[in-house]
Amino acid sequence: ATAEVGSPKRTKDIIAKYGFTFKKSLGQNFLIDQNILNKIVSAAELDETKGALEIGPGIGALTQRLAQTAGRVTAVEIDNRLIPILKDVLSDTPNVHVEHGDVLKLDLPGLMEKQFAGLSGVSVVANLPYYVTTPILMKLLEEKLPLEHIVVMIQKEVAQRMAAKPGGKEYGSLSVAVQYYCQPELVCIVPHTVFIPQPNVDSAVIKLSLRDKPAVEVEDEAFFFRTVQACFAQRRKTIANNLTAYVGKPNRELLGPLLEGIGIDPSRRGETLSLAEFASLSHALLKAGL
Ligand code: SAM
Repeated sequence: ATAEVGSPKRTKDIIAKYGFTFKKSLGQNFLIDQNILNKIVSAAELDETKGALEIGPGIGALTQRLAQTAGRVTAVEIDNRLIPILKDVLSDTPNVHVEHGDVLKLDLPGLMEKQFAGLSGVSVVANLPYYVTTPILMKLLEEKLPLEHIVVMIQKEVAQRMAAKPGGKEYGSLSVAVQYYCQPELVCIVPHTVFIPQPNVDSAVIKLSLRDKPAVEVEDEAFFFRTVQACFAQRRKTIANNLTAYVGKPNRELLGPLLEGIGIDPSRRGETLSLAEFASLSHALLKAGL
């Protein structure tokens, strides 16, 4: 059997063999822990009928494991220096396609259609570059890609914000956006010692299971998300104050009755509102022409 790519020794050997130097600006921290790799792969619920879309394969530690479990793997890597290394390291895994490109600029629906035709489902599985975690996840969600799960290693604090329930200081517009589309589950916390080179922060694996339909029904998604943003504009302010800035001073008197009409105390803060309350608030504002 081929040696595991993601062992400390093999990783160091590959880096030395190709004279690879890490680019901090691309968030390059490679995983060297089999146990964590196993946890990521098993959380994704893959089998040979499923596809895995990997973002940022690096030298292929996770890619190799995905190829052993999924029917087909497509891995998108931005760093052209890694493409020949990946082709070499993964030369005996025929079910892997490496795509050179920036995931933020790629036509993902087109790529998925081409690479995963005939499979029963696709999940994103990745150890993400931390500098672009949120833009990447928001692209995957907003483009409404046909995904089953998104299992990703990200910065611990960001994972906690995505999974946060109303009432705590971690709950914010990111929590609402993610939970609108997905059911989040924190899989595990990961110490910074399992990477080469080690990042400055701890990480977590989060599993986002895509909902069949959004968590709440809204008429206008863009308006709903603008309402949510407005309520969190200044975290220490009440929703009445934050919304005054949003609807404009002349409309301020309308807010009290509007909020009371939907059973929301104007002195509450955004961080206490559930998704259902944000939905009824955005519905009421829209109906009132605010
Ligand atoms: N999957 C590997 C592992 O777990 O060892 C590497 C993970 S490393 C944290 C992130 C990877 O994402 C790097 O290989 C980096 O070059 C790549 N990357 C960074 N920005 C990217 C982008 N916009 N599109 C695609 N890949 C990107």
